[in-house]
Amino acid sequence: SDHALSYPPSPDQFDWDAHYPAFAGSGKTPEFADVGCGFGGLLIALAPLFPNTLMLGMEIRVQVSQYVHDRIVALRSTSAPPQPSADDTPGPYQNVSIVRANSMKFMPNYFPKHSLSALFFLFPDPHFKARKHKARIISPTLLAEYAYILKPGGIVYTITDVRDLHDWMRTHLEQFPLFEPVTEQELRDEGKGPIVDAVYNSTEEGKKVERNQGEKWLACFRRIEAKRD
Ligand code: SAM
Repeated sequence: SDHALSYPPSPDQFDWDAHYPAFAGSGKTPEFADVGCGFGGLLIALAPLFPNTLMLGMEIRVQVSQYVHDRIVALRSTSAPPQPSADDTPGPYQNVSIVRANSMKFMPNYFPKHSLSALFFLFPDPHFKARKHKARIISPTLLAEYAYILKPGGIVYTITDVRDLHDWMRTHLEQFPLFEPVTEQELRDEGKGPIVDAVYNSTEEGKKVERNQGEKWLACFRRIEAKRD
């Protein structure tokens, strides 16, 4: 249960500087959000590829979120300091952090309107039974929140090894007016190949599916530009 979870009343009241001290005072908020990030494999893979992009994982389980926190602290302290660079790029993994949060309730408390360029739902819990479908991380109500926090042009990445869940996520996203499907090839042509590769292969769950030679279904959508945003 999330009764003990603290969460910010609004994004501007959240202490981002505490999460990203190397970016303190920059006014930056996360651009990538990994919902139900589990053990953090995606964030750890992407952080060095986009050193100036802030990334946040959200994970509801106490021990798992603590594990990711400790993992990031360790990576920050043991990674080689960066070469002195003209563009002031902060040290490795300074751009990645985690909160313990119930993302089904509190996304807009963390992320300002139109702030995210990427939102990840990787191997989410399937909740197989019909009466459990309301617990799924993609639903019309939640899609309205996701559309609100995504920048126009931002991408929702979903992947799962559960065919039924794939159909569910794809169908809901297709039916939602603020999202349009985008193919894997289009994303690769736009230079997002490294992100797509990480979506397939970098998470702990994705690796497990790989070991079991399971199938992976990817579905990605672009937040469209609306007339009255
Ligand atoms: N994305 C990771 C991966 O691919 O390895 C983890 C996948 S795991 C099957 C789903 C994760 O979502 C679990 O770690 C679970 O605790 C987390 N989760 C489920 N519901 C959540 C919620 N409402 N808010 C935040 N995290 C949630």
